[in-house]
Amino acid sequence: MARKAGSATQWRIPLMKLRTLAPKVRPMRAKVEVKKQTDDFYRSAEWIALRKQVRAERGRICEGCGKTYEDDGSPVDLILDHIIERRDGGADFDPRNVQQLCTRAGGNGRGRIGGCHNRKTASEKQRRLQGR
Ligand SMILES: [Zn+2]
Repeated sequence: MARKAGSATQWRIPLMKLRTLAPKVRPMRAKVEVKKQTDDFYRSAEWIALRKQVRAERGRICEGCGKTYEDDGSPVDLILDHIIERRDGGADFDPRNVQQLCTRAGGNGRGRIGGCHNRKTASEKQRRLQGR
């Protein structure tokens, strides 16, 4: 089958466009992979089992402020937190390296705006920024 002379030229333009897009796409993909690894850890059977074990042994109580109920009477919302963060070399599944900290959902129900966990995360971030 004879090919038209113009067909090769038609392909050249889309390929050039793809090449110029590549550097913009790569950093975005890297960010998604980091987030996915974190999610995988907190969804792992081992972590969920530790969370249940700690809740059963210590009860529904914030280990930061001792709160069990919110002011409106609803049970306190707790997050299991690494005392020494994993990125600082803290043990992943050691009950001695975890604590239950209270948290409060933001106005839209998604963000975390208050509670001991939020305070701890903020002070860790501050410490990291100051390089201590
Ligand atoms: Zn608390």
